[in-house]
Amino acid sequence: MALVHATLLFPNLLFFFFSQVSYATDTITHSQPLSDGSTLVSKDGTFELGFFTPGSSTNRYVGIWFKNIQTRTIVWVANRNNPTKDKSSTLSLTEEGNLVLLNINRSLVWSTNTTSKEPVSSLVVQLLDSGNLVIRDGSNDKNEESFLWESFDHPCDTLLQGMKLGWNLKTGLNRFLTAWKNWDDPSSGDFTSGVKLGTNPELAIWKGSVEYYRSGPWNGIFSSGVFGFSPNPLFEYKYVQNEDEVYVRYTLKNSSVVSIIVLNQTLYLRQRITWIPHTRTWSVYQSLPQDSCDVYNVCGAYGSCMINGSPVCQCLEGFKPKSVQNWNAMDWTQGCVHKEPWSCGVKNKDGFRRFVGMKMPDTTHSWINTSMTLEDCKAKCLNICSCTAYANLDTSGGGSGCSIWFGDLVDLRVSESGQDLYVRMATSDTIIYNDAKHKNSKKVVLMVAIIVSLVVMMLMGFSYIYMTKTKKEEEKDEGEQENLELPFFDLATIINATNNFSIVNKLGEGGFGPVYKGTMLDGQVIAVKRLSRSSGQGLKEFKNEVILCAKLQHRNLVKVLGCCIEGEEKMLLYEYMPNKSLDSFIFDSVQSKLLDWPMRFNILCAIARGLMYLHQDSRLRIIHRDLKASNILLDNNMNPKISDFGLAKMCGGDQVEGNTNRIVGTYGYMAPEYAIDGLFSTKSDVFSFGVLLLEIISGKKNRTITNEGHIDNLIGHAWRMWKEGTPEQLIAPSLVDSCKISEVIRCIQVGLLCLQHHPDDRPNMTSVIVMLSSETILSQPKVPSFLIKNISIEGEQSCDRQESCSINEVTVSLLNAR
Ligand code: AMP
Repeated sequence: MALVHATLLFPNLLFFFFSQVSYATDTITHSQPLSDGSTLVSKDGTFELGFFTPGSSTNRYVGIWFKNIQTRTIVWVANRNNPTKDKSSTLSLTEEGNLVLLNINRSLVWSTNTTSKEPVSSLVVQLLDSGNLVIRDGSNDKNEESFLWESFDHPCDTLLQGMKLGWNLKTGLNRFLTAWKNWDDPSSGDFTSGVKLGTNPELAIWKGSVEYYRSGPWNGIFSSGVFGFSPNPLFEYKYVQNEDEVYVRYTLKNSSVVSIIVLNQTLYLRQRITWIPHTRTWSVYQSLPQDSCDVYNVCGAYGSCMINGSPVCQCLEGFKPKSVQNWNAMDWTQGCVHKEPWSCGVKNKDGFRRFVGMKMPDTTHSWINTSMTLEDCKAKCLNICSCTAYANLDTSGGGSGCSIWFGDLVDLRVSESGQDLYVRMATSDTIIYNDAKHKNSKKVVLMVAIIVSLVVMMLMGFSYIYMTKTKKEEEKDEGEQENLELPFFDLATIINATNNFSIVNKLGEGGFGPVYKGTMLDGQVIAVKRLSRSSGQGLKEFKNEVILCAKLQHRNLVKVLGCCIEGEEKMLLYEYMPNKSLDSFIFDSVQSKLLDWPMRFNILCAIARGLMYLHQDSRLRIIHRDLKASNILLDNNMNPKISDFGLAKMCGGDQVEGNTNRIVGTYGYMAPEYAIDGLFSTKSDVFSFGVLLLEIISGKKNRTITNEGHIDNLIGHAWRMWKEGTPEQLIAPSLVDSCKISEVIRCIQVGLLCLQHHPDDRPNMTSVIVMLSSETILSQPKVPSFLIKNISIEGEQSCDRQESCSINEVTVSLLNAR
């Protein structure tokens, strides 16, 4: 089990085949090279350097790993882009003081690039306790920090404690992480992460040369765009910016904890993982990007991303979409523009509006001053026509320094660790931070007085209505609580079980807030879903979930153990599902190997049974409305259980469909009639099941995939193959060995039947189960619906611009424009 877990968590870790180690040494010298089969060990025995072969590769590499961690975790590779093919290579020190890797023919495979004045006899290669491989003068023990060369200057995909990520401005050395190409190939992948230089540097992740993610500039505590870095017992970051260097590094507060940062080639690129000795697994502590709002500039200029927003992108107050049509079609790339033009230099024509809790905009076009006060900063910005915003540079200790931005403000988001941003706009658009001092003409005073009295009267009226309504709702809620049929837990019990919602116990985050692992006093392990306090949103759905869950019981629905509603806290307690969600398996190149075809088929049938129960067999008719891979949780034996009923819609006994103005669900899984007309029914769930089925078979997400010149989503791709008579090409390569092709093709046909454009053409879940489990002749599917953004395309069409076809995968909640 420990082995499986480690694989689940981290692709780079497992399946390394090590040659038999014949002996270990603590130095390499000119006269004592290291041959394949031997290792170099750090003094304290934490790290080991040697030759290894990753995964199914036949290549040999020289790398460093943790000696005492059973799950091989490679933290550095010398020759990542130049593997050797034989097992007779040696690592030796040349006359010039360079560490070289020579293959069987004594030809050079890899080398350091140093020039030493020291006699080679005095040089040694050592692996320090920090994991740093160094070439140093072995005769001068006093100067331990002076190295001719060190591996910490040439990171691979892992940042160890003490390593610097960033620039030596004197030498031009840039230390950055580069992901492995895939789990059995350590050569440089597409993603890199390092410090983006500029007046106000920040951490960034690039895909090739394109910026993919930025953290927001350093604000004295961490970065305005990264959550969860507030003081914690595990690690501490240090940011250094001076004339010589710009870098960030971390130290671990507890020396017995092993915690590292790794750049992956997966969805969650940069992860802090921590070794849990008793389970012998790596546990993911934190991942970047944190959510879809972290994708660089997702909302365009002056657009702010709010993960719980509906939709996620909103123009800043005082701004409007540049193209209303595109904005409404969820194409936010053009961003927003000022509602009212502002004229620089004309007195009282422009001012600032304060936005709280913001990730600071991209700093590419910005200027900073460490000593200015906020007032000076504002004055400075007002005096420069192209200045569009200002903020404190450092937010620690009450705020200090000045940061100002020029030109469009891009890559904005609302962030838990965000800070105040003052955005320039026309005076008429400023409310909180208006510079104009209005003259108190009598007319104005009179008008204000009238407006104020009207507002007061209206407020009194509203308060009365509100109080009456609230009272009624409270009475109704009390009634509901009594009818919940669910055990209640008090807050203290949950706090105790989750170690006060420790971030270490965080399992994930859904649309309603974080989910934590907890252990009750009797040892029972649970999962606690905590309704996010910051969002008023979700409360209705939470109550919906509580009521539904209390009444539903099926082996393929996640079991709810109880709930906690105390003060502002609202929580649901679930059985703990150790293997987390299905998406973490099927879309991951390593973990997907753990799910062969019989297991996947089992999962498909079980989900179908769970859905049939919801649609037909439960006391209530329930439409899930957000069926997707991340809402399928897996137990110890990889049995799937449908979760997240917060969005489910309960219908009366005979009601099979409904209509709503509030569309909730996830792009890529939504049936066209639901996404466009708000019409939901059991058949919209059948559609989502069809998408899930294709994803399970292909291992690909139903967002845009590019295939030989076509830009389709998975449905379009599957349909194309079906029509071309090659549906077997859809099958994920890792399944081919374990499946009966005819069985999978039959499943694809069932999937396409579920995806037919007209709901009436789609089978119900009972028929789906019959079709999956018998050999009856299936009808030919009609043209499916390809849903690209919220345009339903019936038939074979493809869109011509890649960006307009990308599909967001978070649960969305939006008002349907009808
Ligand atoms: P949700 O809000 O239900 O979408 O949950 C968010 C994430 O928390 C899921 O994707 C899972 O990774 C994790 N999670 C939710 N419920 C459980 C559970 N019962 N056991 C283990 N992990 C869970």
